[in-house]
Amino acid sequence: MSEVPILKETTRSTGREALRNNITAAMALAGAVRSTLGPLGQDKLLIDDEGRTMVTNDGVTVLESAKVEHPVANMLINASTTQDRIARDGTTSAVLLSAELLQNAWELVLQGVHPSAIARGYRHAEEACRNHFENLVIKATEKHMLAAATTSLSGKIHQAMQHHLAALAVQAAKAVVEQRPTGPLADPTRVKILTQTGGSMTDSSLVTGLVLAKKRVSDRMPKQMPSGKIALVDGGLERRELMSNVKLNVSSTGVLESFRQKEKTVLLEQINHLVDLGVTLLACKEGIDDDLHAALTDAGIQAYRRVSRSDLDLLARGTNATLNHDVKGLTASDLGVFIQSSNERWNGVMHWIVETEEGGATFIAKGSTNETVGEVERCFADALGVACQLLEEPALLPGGGATQIALARHLRRFAEGFAGREQLAVEAFADALEIIPRTLAQNAGLDPLDTLLQTVAKQTTDGGKNAHFIGLNVEKKRPADMVEDGVVEPLRITRQVLAGATEAALSVLRIDDVLWAKKDPAAPEIPEED
Ligand code: ADP
Ligand code: MG
Repeated sequence: MSEVPILKETTRSTGREALRNNITAAMALAGAVRSTLGPLGQDKLLIDDEGRTMVTNDGVTVLESAKVEHPVANMLINASTTQDRIARDGTTSAVLLSAELLQNAWELVLQGVHPSAIARGYRHAEEACRNHFENLVIKATEKHMLAAATTSLSGKIHQAMQHHLAALAVQAAKAVVEQRPTGPLADPTRVKILTQTGGSMTDSSLVTGLVLAKKRVSDRMPKQMPSGKIALVDGGLERRELMSNVKLNVSSTGVLESFRQKEKTVLLEQINHLVDLGVTLLACKEGIDDDLHAALTDAGIQAYRRVSRSDLDLLARGTNATLNHDVKGLTASDLGVFIQSSNERWNGVMHWIVETEEGGATFIAKGSTNETVGEVERCFADALGVACQLLEEPALLPGGGATQIALARHLRRFAEGFAGREQLAVEAFADALEIIPRTLAQNAGLDPLDTLLQTVAKQTTDGGKNAHFIGLNVEKKRPADMVEDGVVEPLRITRQVLAGATEAALSVLRIDDVLWAKKDPAAPEIPEED
């Protein structure tokens, strides 16, 4: 068969060779993040083009900042980014698992198993795991929830801070949970995060209500407002700038003055409208003209200007108000309610604190340098993600590889129901799951195989109904009951790791032809019909 002209300028690898190259790329990628897994994982120092440095132990951060050109490696990175978006955790595990699934698939290919048979077996195995989860999960109690939030921080920040941040994250998640007809909804973006450099990270705290680093437009306005009605304006209370191409024909000195006066009257009417509606608190996205401050103060309104759109949205959700573009258009039903609104000076900066019916919470991240504040902020966000997930779906699985070992044991029994090649693939899937406990052991300085065998043996001989709680506790450096030790993770994370890693591995297995355009290719030729 002659080459199609359009492929002349490309390097092509097909069949086995293509698969082998792709799997090598996947393994290389896994190699880059392997050493970060688990609480004893090592940190990586990342240095960007401009020499900026960052120390991280987070798989997805390493991968996203690496300059990876191999398309298959990029497919796996995308899977781990999806993992981060959906579950906020489990990114390293997802990459390790997909690479291991591919490595095991390659060994089957060498034995003459066709990739499509492997793909079928992998799909069955993933489904069998999903069905088996219900036998493994435990219901998340308050104590477990705290343990899971702490587990998500293990290795990322020192222990005292792990407990402190986990407790605040659980408290914050509870402050934003809403009961919906479809079930509880806990949206972590409803928690406002404020950062303050200076002081110790242990001073990081949670405030109920919304805190913004803002001051009221005039000091003459009351510092503290008791419960009342709030109006949110997506615009401002200001005179319009004259457009540059507008010419004002001023024939006598009084015209401009009366024009300005007219504008002010319009704005004062807007303030009267607020008074008529009974508004005592006002927040605008844009400005409020200086000469309106007195009128607002006299009207008994505490007002804020240049409040960001995202903060206005948080206020709207907390107070049940609707944003309106102009003041005149506001109706009574657009207004929200607040319990108290006050101004306090913290570290020399004025802050506006609004307490609302619908709860809401603000986390104040503190630290002595910008780096530590950033670290506190990221850790809190991770723990908050876990706490929110658990309020929505209160199901947990034991960590430390316990769940992967239990799933592998289940799959080996399940494989017996299949004939021939698919059975081999299901077993290969089971083996791949064990990459998690093996890597945890390795990063703890233990022998990966011996430790894995010990842990598996302990699950098998235990025989009790909680045998699947036994995993490797890397702090104790031996197999232990992970639930008792508080190493637990949301079901949602583990389920997503499995689904994402399988999906990524299957898409790589499906490729049997890779066409690389030569660097700097000439304009592609259009193939001619013969
Ligand atoms: P990922 O990016 O996949 O979340 P992490 O570095 O956060 O990777 O490591 C998560 C893994 O570490 C999970 O499998 C979790 O069960 C495990 N882990 C956390 N704490 C412990 C512990 N004390 N002993 C053993 N494993 C632990
Ligand atoms: Mg993690």
